[in-house]
Amino acid sequence: MSGKADIALIGLAVMGQNLILNMDEKGFVVCAYNRTVSKVHDFLNNEAKGTKVIGAESLKDMVDKLKTPRKVMLLVKAGSAVDDFIGQLVPLLSPGDVIIDGGNSEYQDTTRRCEELEKLGILYVGSGVSGGEEGARNGPSLMPGGNAAAWPLIKPIFQAICAKADGEPCCEWVGDAGAGHFVKMVHNGIEYGDMQLICEAYHIMKKLGLTSPQMSEVFGQWNSTELDSFLIEITRDILNFKDSEGYLLDRIRDTAGQKGTGKWTAIAALQYGVPVTLIGEAVFSRCLSALKDERVAASGVLKGPSCKPCVPDIKKYLNGIKYALYCAKIVSYAQGFMLMREAAKENNWSLNYGGIALMWRGGCIIRSVFLGNIKDAYTRQPTLSNLLLDDFFKRAIQQGQSSWREVVANAFLWGIPVPALSTALSFYDGYRTATLPANLLQAQRDYFGAHTYELVNREGEFHHTNWTGT
Ligand code: NAP
Repeated sequence: MSGKADIALIGLAVMGQNLILNMDEKGFVVCAYNRTVSKVHDFLNNEAKGTKVIGAESLKDMVDKLKTPRKVMLLVKAGSAVDDFIGQLVPLLSPGDVIIDGGNSEYQDTTRRCEELEKLGILYVGSGVSGGEEGARNGPSLMPGGNAAAWPLIKPIFQAICAKADGEPCCEWVGDAGAGHFVKMVHNGIEYGDMQLICEAYHIMKKLGLTSPQMSEVFGQWNSTELDSFLIEITRDILNFKDSEGYLLDRIRDTAGQKGTGKWTAIAALQYGVPVTLIGEAVFSRCLSALKDERVAASGVLKGPSCKPCVPDIKKYLNGIKYALYCAKIVSYAQGFMLMREAAKENNWSLNYGGIALMWRGGCIIRSVFLGNIKDAYTRQPTLSNLLLDDFFKRAIQQGQSSWREVVANAFLWGIPVPALSTALSFYDGYRTATLPANLLQAQRDYFGAHTYELVNREGEFHHTNWTGT
Protein backbone atom coordinates (compact mmCIF):
# COMPACT_ATOMS: atom_id res chain seq x y z
CA MET A 1 0.00 0.00 0.00
CA SER A 2 2.95 2.35 -0.56
CA GLY A 3 2.12 5.84 -1.79
CA LYS A 4 -0.79 6.07 0.60
CA ALA A 5 -1.01 8.28 3.66
CA ASP A 6 -0.31 7.08 7.21
CA ILE A 7 -3.03 9.28 8.69
CA ALA A 8 -5.62 11.84 7.64
CA LEU A 9 -6.14 15.08 9.47
CA ILE A 10 -9.38 17.02 9.17
CA GLY A 11 -9.42 20.66 10.25
CA LEU A 12 -6.97 23.13 8.79
CA ALA A 13 -7.13 25.86 11.41
CA VAL A 14 -4.13 26.71 13.56
CA MET A 15 -3.93 23.41 15.50
CA GLY A 16 -4.54 21.10 12.55
CA GLN A 17 -2.04 22.80 10.25
CA ASN A 18 0.72 22.73 12.85
CA LEU A 19 0.09 19.13 13.84
CA ILE A 20 0.23 18.07 10.19
CA LEU A 21 3.59 19.82 9.71
CA ASN A 22 4.85 18.17 12.90
CA MET A 23 3.75 14.70 11.64
CA ASP A 24 5.32 15.38 8.25
CA GLU A 25 8.61 16.34 9.87
CA LYS A 26 8.60 13.06 11.81
CA GLY A 27 8.35 11.12 8.53
CA PHE A 28 4.61 10.37 8.34
CA VAL A 29 2.59 10.98 5.20
CA VAL A 30 -0.49 13.01 6.10
CA CYS A 31 -3.61 13.55 4.02
CA ALA A 32 -5.15 16.95 4.79
CA TYR A 33 -8.83 17.78 4.53
CA ASN A 34 -11.07 20.65 5.61
CA ARG A 35 -14.80 21.42 5.44
CA THR A 36 -14.00 24.49 3.34
CA VAL A 37 -11.98 22.65 0.71
CA SER A 38 -10.28 25.79 -0.64
CA LYS A 39 -8.26 25.83 2.59
CA VAL A 40 -6.72 22.49 1.58
CA HIS A 41 -5.36 24.09 -1.60
CA ASP A 42 -4.16 27.18 0.30
CA PHE A 43 -2.37 24.98 2.82
CA LEU A 44 -0.70 22.78 0.20
CA ASN A 45 0.44 25.82 -1.78
CA ASN A 46 1.77 27.76 1.22
CA GLU A 47 2.57 26.31 4.66
CA ALA A 48 2.86 22.71 3.40
CA LYS A 49 4.72 23.55 0.18
CA GLY A 50 7.71 21.24 -0.27
CA THR A 51 6.47 18.67 2.27
CA LYS A 52 5.10 15.15 1.73
CA VAL A 53 1.59 16.27 2.76
CA ILE A 54 -1.16 15.32 0.32
CA GLY A 55 -4.63 16.85 0.09
CA ALA A 56 -8.13 15.51 -0.45
CA GLU A 57 -11.07 17.02 -2.35
CA SER A 58 -13.72 15.13 -0.41
CA LEU A 59 -14.01 12.76 2.55
CA LYS A 60 -14.27 9.82 0.13
CA ASP A 61 -11.12 10.95 -1.66
CA MET A 62 -9.39 11.27 1.74
CA VAL A 63 -10.44 7.79 2.90
CA ASP A 64 -9.29 6.27 -0.42
CA LYS A 65 -5.85 7.77 0.08
CA LEU A 66 -5.26 6.10 3.46
CA LYS A 67 -3.36 2.96 4.41
CA THR A 68 -5.48 0.41 6.29
CA PRO A 69 -6.45 0.23 9.07
CA ARG A 70 -7.28 3.88 8.44
CA LYS A 71 -6.53 6.56 10.97
CA VAL A 72 -8.46 9.81 10.76
CA MET A 73 -7.79 12.65 13.21
CA LEU A 74 -10.23 15.52 13.71
CA LEU A 75 -9.02 18.93 14.85
CA VAL A 76 -12.21 20.89 14.39
CA LYS A 77 -14.38 23.03 16.61
CA ALA A 78 -15.64 20.94 19.52
CA GLY A 79 -19.35 20.07 19.59
CA SER A 80 -21.65 19.34 16.66
CA ALA A 81 -18.86 19.63 14.07
CA VAL A 82 -17.30 16.48 15.53
CA ASP A 83 -20.61 14.58 15.39
CA ASP A 84 -21.22 15.80 11.83
CA PHE A 85 -17.83 14.52 10.65
CA ILE A 86 -18.26 11.20 12.46
CA GLY A 87 -21.65 10.79 10.78
CA GLN A 88 -20.12 11.39 7.35
CA LEU A 89 -17.07 9.20 7.99
CA VAL A 90 -18.78 6.10 9.32
CA PRO A 91 -20.23 4.94 5.95
CA LEU A 92 -16.78 5.38 4.37
CA LEU A 93 -14.77 3.49 7.02
CA SER A 94 -14.47 -0.22 7.86
CA PRO A 95 -14.37 -2.09 11.17
CA GLY A 96 -10.92 -1.71 12.74
CA ASP A 97 -10.41 1.81 11.41
CA VAL A 98 -9.66 4.58 13.91
CA ILE A 99 -11.21 8.02 14.42
CA ILE A 100 -9.33 10.36 16.77
CA ASP A 101 -10.80 13.61 18.09
CA GLY A 102 -7.96 15.93 19.12
CA GLY A 103 -10.19 18.92 19.91
CA ASN A 104 -11.29 20.17 23.30
CA SER A 105 -14.39 17.99 23.46
CA GLU A 106 -16.40 17.42 26.62
CA TYR A 107 -15.42 14.06 28.07
CA GLN A 108 -19.05 12.85 28.28
CA ASP A 109 -19.39 13.45 24.50
CA THR A 110 -16.27 11.36 23.96
CA THR A 111 -17.65 8.55 26.10
CA ARG A 112 -20.90 8.59 24.13
CA ARG A 113 -19.11 8.61 20.75
CA CYS A 114 -16.78 5.84 21.87
CA GLU A 115 -19.71 3.61 22.85
CA GLU A 116 -21.68 4.34 19.67
CA LEU A 117 -18.72 3.64 17.39
CA GLU A 118 -17.66 0.51 19.25
CA LYS A 119 -20.96 -1.05 18.19
CA LEU A 120 -19.92 -0.43 14.55
CA GLY A 121 -16.41 -1.78 15.06
CA ILE A 122 -14.79 1.65 14.66
CA LEU A 123 -12.09 2.40 17.25
CA TYR A 124 -12.68 5.85 18.72
CA VAL A 125 -10.09 7.93 20.55
CA GLY A 126 -10.57 11.25 22.34
CA SER A 127 -7.19 12.83 22.82
CA GLY A 128 -6.27 15.90 24.78
CA VAL A 129 -3.80 18.03 22.81
CA SER A 130 -2.07 20.72 24.82
CA GLY A 131 0.53 23.34 24.10
CA GLY A 132 -1.36 25.58 21.68
CA GLU A 133 -0.03 26.41 18.26
CA GLU A 134 3.62 26.16 19.23
CA GLY A 135 3.12 22.80 20.96
CA ALA A 136 1.23 21.38 18.00
CA ARG A 137 4.11 22.32 15.70
CA ASN A 138 7.07 21.29 17.85
CA GLY A 139 5.73 18.71 20.27
CA PRO A 140 2.47 18.86 22.22
CA SER A 141 1.48 17.01 25.33
CA LEU A 142 -0.96 14.32 24.12
CA MET A 143 -3.51 12.59 26.36
CA PRO A 144 -5.25 9.83 24.36
CA GLY A 145 -8.10 7.74 25.78
CA GLY A 146 -10.98 5.75 24.37
CA ASN A 147 -11.02 2.33 22.71
CA ALA A 148 -7.76 0.74 23.90
CA ALA A 149 -7.50 -1.40 20.74
CA ALA A 150 -6.62 1.81 18.88
CA TRP A 151 -3.54 2.56 20.97
CA PRO A 152 -1.05 0.17 19.27
CA LEU A 153 -2.17 1.60 15.90
CA ILE A 154 -1.64 5.26 16.77
CA LYS A 155 1.13 4.98 19.35
CA PRO A 156 4.06 5.21 16.86
CA ILE A 157 2.67 8.47 15.43
CA PHE A 158 1.60 9.99 18.76
CA GLN A 159 4.83 9.22 20.59
CA ALA A 160 6.90 10.50 17.65
CA ILE A 161 5.16 13.88 17.44
CA CYS A 162 4.70 14.63 21.15
CA ALA A 163 6.97 16.62 23.44
CA LYS A 164 9.71 14.77 25.32
CA ALA A 165 10.65 15.38 28.94
CA ASP A 166 13.93 13.89 30.15
CA GLY A 167 13.90 11.81 26.96
CA GLU A 168 10.47 10.29 27.70
CA PRO A 169 7.41 10.98 25.53
CA CYS A 170 4.76 13.26 27.01
CA CYS A 171 2.09 10.92 25.71
CA GLU A 172 0.77 7.68 27.16
CA TRP A 173 -2.52 5.85 26.92
CA VAL A 174 -4.74 7.44 29.59
CA GLY A 175 -7.69 5.07 29.83
CA ASP A 176 -11.06 4.01 28.48
CA ALA A 177 -13.84 6.12 26.98
CA GLY A 178 -13.62 9.84 27.86
CA ALA A 179 -10.60 9.45 30.18
CA GLY A 180 -8.21 11.31 27.85
CA HIS A 181 -10.49 14.29 27.48
CA PHE A 182 -11.24 14.26 31.21
CA VAL A 183 -7.53 14.44 32.02
CA LYS A 184 -7.10 17.24 29.46
CA MET A 185 -9.99 19.11 31.07
CA VAL A 186 -8.36 18.83 34.52
CA HIS A 187 -5.08 20.00 32.95
CA ASN A 188 -6.85 23.12 31.68
CA GLY A 189 -8.45 23.68 35.09
CA ILE A 190 -5.05 23.44 36.75
CA GLU A 191 -3.77 25.93 34.17
CA TYR A 192 -6.49 28.36 35.31
CA GLY A 193 -5.33 27.85 38.92
CA ASP A 194 -1.63 28.36 38.14
CA MET A 195 -2.38 31.55 36.22
CA GLN A 196 -4.58 32.95 38.98
CA LEU A 197 -1.92 32.26 41.64
CA ILE A 198 0.68 34.10 39.56
CA CYS A 199 -1.73 37.02 39.11
CA GLU A 200 -2.29 37.24 42.86
CA ALA A 201 1.46 37.25 43.54
CA TYR A 202 1.83 40.02 40.92
CA HIS A 203 -1.02 41.99 42.50
CA ILE A 204 0.60 41.90 45.96
CA MET A 205 3.99 42.92 44.56
CA LYS A 206 2.40 45.78 42.63
CA LYS A 207 0.61 47.01 45.76
CA LEU A 208 3.93 46.86 47.61
CA GLY A 209 5.25 49.34 45.06
CA LEU A 210 7.44 47.16 42.83
CA THR A 211 7.94 48.36 39.26
CA SER A 212 7.43 46.15 36.19
CA PRO A 213 11.16 45.48 35.66
CA GLN A 214 11.56 44.73 39.37
CA MET A 215 8.71 42.23 39.24
CA SER A 216 10.11 40.75 36.06
CA GLU A 217 13.39 40.20 37.87
CA VAL A 218 11.62 38.48 40.78
CA PHE A 219 9.78 36.11 38.43
CA GLY A 220 13.05 35.52 36.61
CA GLN A 221 14.67 34.49 39.90
CA TRP A 222 11.73 32.28 40.83
CA ASN A 223 12.13 30.55 37.49
CA SER A 224 15.39 29.05 38.63
CA THR A 225 13.83 27.63 41.82
CA GLU A 226 11.17 25.01 42.57
CA LEU A 227 8.72 27.25 40.66
CA ASP A 228 10.61 26.78 37.36
CA SER A 229 7.81 26.62 34.78
CA PHE A 230 6.57 27.92 31.45
CA LEU A 231 3.97 30.21 33.06
CA ILE A 232 6.48 31.85 35.44
CA GLU A 233 8.88 32.27 32.52
CA ILE A 234 6.34 34.01 30.28
CA THR A 235 5.22 36.21 33.19
CA ARG A 236 8.83 37.39 33.53
CA ASP A 237 8.87 38.27 29.83
CA ILE A 238 5.42 39.87 29.81
CA LEU A 239 6.37 42.18 32.70
CA ASN A 240 9.44 43.31 30.82
CA PHE A 241 7.72 43.86 27.48
CA LYS A 242 7.85 47.47 26.32
CA ASP A 243 6.63 49.16 23.17
CA SER A 244 6.82 52.80 22.07
CA GLU A 245 4.25 53.75 24.73
CA GLY A 246 5.93 51.98 27.64
CA TYR A 247 5.14 48.73 29.44
CA LEU A 248 2.33 47.03 27.51
CA LEU A 249 0.93 45.10 30.50
CA ASP A 250 -0.05 48.35 32.24
CA ARG A 251 -2.32 49.21 29.31
CA ILE A 252 -4.11 45.84 29.06
CA ARG A 253 -7.72 45.93 30.31
CA ASP A 254 -8.21 43.83 33.45
CA THR A 255 -11.08 41.68 32.17
CA ALA A 256 -10.26 38.00 31.68
CA GLY A 257 -11.78 35.82 28.98
CA GLN A 258 -12.43 32.10 29.17
CA LYS A 259 -13.35 29.34 26.73
CA GLY A 260 -14.98 26.96 29.22
CA THR A 261 -12.62 24.14 30.17
CA GLY A 262 -11.92 25.66 33.61
CA LYS A 263 -15.65 25.93 34.15
CA TRP A 264 -16.12 22.29 33.10
CA THR A 265 -13.51 21.25 35.67
CA ALA A 266 -15.35 23.15 38.39
CA ILE A 267 -18.67 21.60 37.27
CA ALA A 268 -17.11 18.11 37.31
CA ALA A 269 -15.75 18.81 40.80
CA LEU A 270 -19.27 19.66 41.99
CA GLN A 271 -20.74 16.65 40.21
CA TYR A 272 -18.20 14.23 41.72
CA GLY A 273 -18.32 15.98 45.10
CA VAL A 274 -14.59 16.73 45.21
CA PRO A 275 -13.46 20.02 46.85
CA VAL A 276 -11.45 21.46 43.95
CA THR A 277 -11.69 24.89 45.50
CA LEU A 278 -8.70 26.59 43.91
CA ILE A 279 -9.76 25.97 40.31
CA GLY A 280 -13.28 27.05 41.29
CA GLU A 281 -11.93 30.33 42.66
CA ALA A 282 -9.79 30.80 39.56
CA VAL A 283 -12.88 30.51 37.36
CA PHE A 284 -14.89 32.87 39.59
CA SER A 285 -11.99 35.35 39.62
CA ARG A 286 -12.23 35.56 35.84
CA CYS A 287 -15.99 36.10 36.19
CA LEU A 288 -15.40 38.89 38.75
CA SER A 289 -12.79 40.51 36.52
CA ALA A 290 -15.35 40.61 33.71
CA LEU A 291 -17.65 42.79 35.86
CA LYS A 292 -15.45 45.79 35.10
CA ASP A 293 -18.14 48.47 35.12
CA GLU A 294 -19.62 47.26 38.41
CA ARG A 295 -16.16 47.10 39.99
CA VAL A 296 -15.29 50.60 38.86
CA ALA A 297 -18.56 51.92 40.31
CA ALA A 298 -18.11 49.98 43.58
CA SER A 299 -14.51 51.17 43.95
CA GLY A 300 -15.81 54.68 44.51
CA VAL A 301 -18.35 53.62 47.12
CA LEU A 302 -17.17 50.59 49.10
CA LYS A 303 -14.43 51.30 51.61
CA GLY A 304 -11.62 48.89 52.51
CA PRO A 305 -8.95 49.03 55.22
CA SER A 306 -7.03 52.27 55.60
CA CYS A 307 -3.57 50.73 56.20
CA LYS A 308 -1.23 50.75 53.20
CA PRO A 309 0.71 47.64 52.16
CA CYS A 310 4.16 47.95 53.72
CA VAL A 311 6.78 45.46 54.87
CA PRO A 312 10.05 45.99 56.78
CA ASP A 313 12.16 43.69 54.57
CA ILE A 314 10.96 43.53 50.96
CA LYS A 315 13.47 40.87 49.88
CA LYS A 316 12.38 38.56 52.67
CA TYR A 317 8.74 39.25 51.94
CA LEU A 318 9.12 38.47 48.25
CA ASN A 319 10.56 35.13 49.25
CA GLY A 320 7.49 34.66 51.45
CA ILE A 321 5.22 35.33 48.46
CA LYS A 322 7.13 32.70 46.54
CA TYR A 323 6.51 30.16 49.31
CA ALA A 324 2.83 31.13 49.45
CA LEU A 325 2.49 30.56 45.70
CA TYR A 326 4.36 27.26 45.91
CA CYS A 327 2.28 25.89 48.81
CA ALA A 328 -1.00 26.92 47.15
CA LYS A 329 0.17 25.31 43.91
CA ILE A 330 0.79 22.04 45.73
CA VAL A 331 -2.77 22.19 47.09
CA SER A 332 -4.17 22.94 43.62
CA TYR A 333 -2.48 19.91 42.06
CA ALA A 334 -3.48 17.75 45.03
CA GLN A 335 -7.11 18.81 44.41
CA GLY A 336 -6.83 18.15 40.66
CA PHE A 337 -5.48 14.66 41.27
CA MET A 338 -8.24 14.05 43.87
CA LEU A 339 -10.76 14.87 41.14
CA MET A 340 -9.15 12.48 38.66
CA ARG A 341 -9.05 9.74 41.32
CA GLU A 342 -12.77 10.11 42.06
CA ALA A 343 -13.73 10.22 38.37
CA ALA A 344 -11.58 7.14 37.74
CA LYS A 345 -13.37 5.31 40.55
CA GLU A 346 -16.82 6.21 39.26
CA ASN A 347 -16.04 5.50 35.60
CA ASN A 348 -13.89 2.43 36.14
CA TRP A 349 -10.83 4.01 34.55
CA SER A 350 -7.47 2.82 35.76
CA LEU A 351 -5.49 6.05 35.55
CA ASN A 352 -1.72 6.13 35.87
CA TYR A 353 -1.17 9.29 37.92
CA GLY A 354 2.62 9.33 37.56
CA GLY A 355 2.16 8.88 33.81
CA ILE A 356 -0.25 11.83 33.73
CA ALA A 357 2.28 14.03 35.55
CA LEU A 358 4.88 12.99 32.99
CA MET A 359 2.51 13.80 30.11
CA TRP A 360 2.15 17.32 31.51
CA ARG A 361 5.87 17.64 32.26
CA GLY A 362 6.61 18.93 28.75
CA GLY A 363 4.82 20.39 25.74
CA CYS A 364 1.88 21.93 27.55
CA ILE A 365 1.10 25.25 29.20
CA ILE A 366 1.50 23.94 32.77
CA ARG A 367 4.87 22.30 32.03
CA SER A 368 7.17 22.66 34.99
CA VAL A 369 9.87 21.10 37.11
CA PHE A 370 7.15 20.66 39.75
CA LEU A 371 5.42 18.01 37.61
CA GLY A 372 8.63 15.99 37.77
CA ASN A 373 8.27 16.08 41.58
CA ILE A 374 4.70 14.78 41.24
CA LYS A 375 5.85 12.01 38.91
CA ASP A 376 8.50 11.07 41.50
CA ALA A 377 5.87 11.02 44.27
CA TYR A 378 3.76 8.50 42.34
CA THR A 379 6.83 6.48 41.41
CA ARG A 380 7.71 6.23 45.12
CA GLN A 381 4.14 5.29 46.00
CA PRO A 382 1.83 4.44 43.05
CA THR A 383 -1.19 4.10 45.38
CA LEU A 384 -0.60 7.47 47.07
CA SER A 385 -4.06 8.65 48.19
CA ASN A 386 -3.26 12.36 48.24
CA LEU A 387 -0.24 14.36 47.05
CA LEU A 388 -0.28 16.34 50.31
CA LEU A 389 0.70 13.14 52.12
CA ASP A 390 3.84 12.55 50.05
CA ASP A 391 6.99 13.26 52.09
CA PHE A 392 8.43 15.70 49.53
CA PHE A 393 5.28 17.86 49.41
CA LYS A 394 4.65 17.51 53.17
CA ARG A 395 8.11 18.94 53.82
CA ALA A 396 7.63 21.70 51.23
CA ILE A 397 4.44 22.88 52.93
CA GLN A 398 6.02 22.63 56.36
CA GLN A 399 8.82 24.86 55.14
CA GLY A 400 6.55 27.40 53.44
CA GLN A 401 3.41 27.52 55.50
CA SER A 402 4.28 30.30 57.97
CA SER A 403 5.12 32.60 55.01
CA TRP A 404 1.95 31.45 53.23
CA ARG A 405 -0.17 32.32 56.28
CA GLU A 406 1.55 35.69 56.69
CA VAL A 407 1.06 36.60 53.01
CA VAL A 408 -2.63 35.64 53.05
CA ALA A 409 -3.27 37.35 56.40
CA ASN A 410 -1.55 40.56 55.30
CA ALA A 411 -3.41 40.57 51.99
CA PHE A 412 -6.67 40.42 53.96
CA LEU A 413 -5.52 43.22 56.27
CA TRP A 414 -4.45 45.35 53.30
CA GLY A 415 -7.64 44.62 51.35
CA ILE A 416 -5.92 42.84 48.43
CA PRO A 417 -8.02 39.99 46.99
CA VAL A 418 -6.21 36.64 47.10
CA PRO A 419 -8.99 34.10 46.41
CA ALA A 420 -6.72 31.31 45.18
CA LEU A 421 -3.93 31.71 47.76
CA SER A 422 -6.48 31.84 50.57
CA THR A 423 -8.83 29.08 49.47
CA ALA A 424 -5.84 26.76 49.19
CA LEU A 425 -4.89 27.60 52.77
CA SER A 426 -8.44 27.01 54.01
CA PHE A 427 -8.49 23.69 52.19
CA TYR A 428 -5.17 22.72 53.73
CA ASP A 429 -6.44 23.56 57.20
CA GLY A 430 -9.72 21.76 56.57
CA TYR A 431 -8.02 18.66 55.19
CA ARG A 432 -5.77 18.38 58.24
CA THR A 433 -8.62 18.93 60.73
CA ALA A 434 -9.87 15.69 62.29
CA THR A 435 -13.04 17.27 63.68
CA LEU A 436 -14.86 19.87 61.61
CA PRO A 437 -17.99 21.77 62.69
CA ALA A 438 -20.16 19.62 60.41
CA ASN A 439 -21.71 18.07 63.54
CA LEU A 440 -23.61 21.35 63.96
CA LEU A 441 -24.52 21.31 60.29
CA GLN A 442 -25.99 17.83 60.61
CA ALA A 443 -27.96 18.93 63.67
CA GLN A 444 -29.33 21.94 61.75
CA ARG A 445 -30.35 19.68 58.86
CA ASP A 446 -32.08 17.33 61.22
CA TYR A 447 -33.76 20.24 63.04
CA PHE A 448 -35.41 21.78 59.99
CA GLY A 449 -35.66 18.82 57.63
CA ALA A 450 -35.50 15.60 59.68
CA HIS A 451 -32.48 14.62 57.60
CA THR A 452 -31.10 12.50 60.50
CA TYR A 453 -27.55 12.34 61.85
CA GLU A 454 -25.05 9.67 62.90
CA LEU A 455 -23.50 9.58 66.36
CA VAL A 456 -19.75 9.61 66.97
CA ASN A 457 -18.46 6.01 67.01
CA ARG A 458 -21.82 4.66 65.79
CA GLU A 459 -21.46 5.07 62.04
CA GLY A 460 -24.26 3.67 59.92
CA GLU A 461 -27.00 4.25 62.51
CA PHE A 462 -29.20 7.20 61.64
CA HIS A 463 -31.06 9.15 64.33
CA HIS A 464 -33.67 11.86 64.31
CA THR A 465 -34.45 14.13 67.24
CA ASN A 466 -37.50 16.26 67.87
CA TRP A 467 -35.43 19.38 68.62
CA THR A 468 -38.34 21.59 69.73
CA GLY A 469 -40.13 18.98 71.81
CA THR A 470 -43.43 19.93 70.18
P1 NAP B 1 -11.10 26.08 15.70
O1 NAP B 1 -11.15 27.52 15.42
O2 NAP B 1 -11.58 25.59 17.02
O3 NAP B 1 -11.96 25.29 14.56
C1 NAP B 1 -11.78 25.59 13.21
C2 NAP B 1 -11.89 24.33 12.38
O4 NAP B 1 -13.13 23.67 12.65
C3 NAP B 1 -11.87 24.63 10.89
O5 NAP B 1 -11.25 23.57 10.24
C4 NAP B 1 -13.35 24.69 10.57
O6 NAP B 1 -13.63 24.43 9.22
C5 NAP B 1 -13.89 23.58 11.42
N1 NAP B 1 -15.30 23.72 11.72
C6 NAP B 1 -15.87 24.67 12.48
N2 NAP B 1 -17.21 24.48 12.54
C7 NAP B 1 -17.48 23.40 11.78
C8 NAP B 1 -18.66 22.68 11.45
N3 NAP B 1 -19.85 23.05 11.93
N4 NAP B 1 -18.56 21.60 10.65
C9 NAP B 1 -17.35 21.22 10.19
N5 NAP B 1 -16.19 21.85 10.46
C10 NAP B 1 -16.25 22.91 11.25
O7 NAP B 1 -9.62 25.53 15.39
P2 NAP B 1 -8.33 25.39 16.31
O8 NAP B 1 -8.11 26.59 17.14
O9 NAP B 1 -7.25 24.91 15.41
O10 NAP B 1 -8.74 24.22 17.32
C11 NAP B 1 -9.11 22.92 16.88
C12 NAP B 1 -9.54 22.11 18.09
O11 NAP B 1 -8.41 22.00 18.98
C13 NAP B 1 -10.66 22.77 18.91
O12 NAP B 1 -11.47 21.77 19.47
C14 NAP B 1 -9.92 23.49 20.01
O13 NAP B 1 -10.70 23.67 21.16
C15 NAP B 1 -8.76 22.53 20.26
N6 NAP B 1 -7.55 23.15 20.81
C16 NAP B 1 -7.15 24.38 20.42
C17 NAP B 1 -5.99 24.93 20.96
C18 NAP B 1 -5.51 26.28 20.51
O14 NAP B 1 -4.53 26.77 21.10
N7 NAP B 1 -6.12 26.89 19.49
C19 NAP B 1 -5.25 24.20 21.89
C20 NAP B 1 -5.67 22.93 22.24
C21 NAP B 1 -6.82 22.40 21.70
P3 NAP B 1 -13.81 25.66 8.16
O15 NAP B 1 -12.42 26.07 7.80
O16 NAP B 1 -14.57 25.06 7.03
O17 NAP B 1 -14.56 26.75 8.88
